[in-house]
Amino acid sequence: MSDIVVVGSLAYDSISTLTGKVDRTLGGSANYFSVVASHYAGVRVVGVVGTDYTDQDLAVLKSRNIDTSGIKVENGNTFHWEGRYGYTMNDAHTVATELNVLATFAPKLNDSYREAKVVFLANIDPVLQLDVLDQVKAPDFVACDTMNFWIETKRKDVMEVLKKVNALLINETESMMLTKEPNAIAAAPKIAELGPECVVIKRGEYGFVMYFEGQYFILPAFPIQKVVDPTGAGDSFAGGFMGHLAGLNKKTFTATDYKMACIQGTVAASFTVEDFGLGRTKTVTKDEMKLRHEKYRSVVASPLL
Ligand code: AMP
Repeated sequence: MSDIVVVGSLAYDSISTLTGKVDRTLGGSANYFSVVASHYAGVRVVGVVGTDYTDQDLAVLKSRNIDTSGIKVENGNTFHWEGRYGYTMNDAHTVATELNVLATFAPKLNDSYREAKVVFLANIDPVLQLDVLDQVKAPDFVACDTMNFWIETKRKDVMEVLKKVNALLINETESMMLTKEPNAIAAAPKIAELGPECVVIKRGEYGFVMYFEGQYFILPAFPIQKVVDPTGAGDSFAGGFMGHLAGLNKKTFTATDYKMACIQGTVAASFTVEDFGLGRTKTVTKDEMKLRHEKYRSVVASPLL
């Protein structure tokens, strides 16, 4: 099984949804991703936190045997994101993004990280994504995520990243923003032309569109009646997706591999939305994920198709 090196944000999030609000709860793309992916493979995190980041929050990763030696502590405050959701929980409205220590972060990977074969460039500054990727000697498989903030402020760098990855996972609205296409179906092949052979467009409760070798694979999300907080669902999806692929221990993947990776991502994300922040993500067990996978099968499978 290959270890995954991930670079992403480690954050304190202030979130308000129709069900309530939380202030400065633990979040960040790297936290959600790593906790989920650690159910499938070894994970090594590259990131930065401020002196306000608590040992208890770092212990969330350590308790899952995640390598945190690539997390730097810098003078200043941890990245802070403030987001709000209305009735449409599929799109977050960013109220504030305070980069803080992330603004000047210059990652330096140690040898064990540089040997990584599987790399996930989670949502973070694309310049940092490129920097980390440059330091990994000979990766077999690289995937990335990004968001509107970076597409708007660093589009050229996002395009550079896309040339270097095997897969991209992205939200539907952001896929349209990236390609200037009016829907995910049209956006997917346009993105594939930019670099990634596999494109996964996430659509909140409507699931995902996966595009690989000219073929679409489309499924809804696992049905959840009470969505408390969708923050981190995309990162958790990526954790299940990458975790599954890393567990296969292969250098290249088939359509079936990517399809199952998307299913694992869907199952993982369905837990994340059940509570604020990492509340549910950090307690879920592999058995609970297996059980939900079974239930998901009964939701989407039909002999009539
Ligand atoms: P998602 O899976 O898309 O809901 O990701 C949510 C996480 O992304 C939150 O925990 C935020 O801390 C983090 N985040 C928000 N904006 C940014 C950004 N510009 N760069 C990196 N991470 C971000």
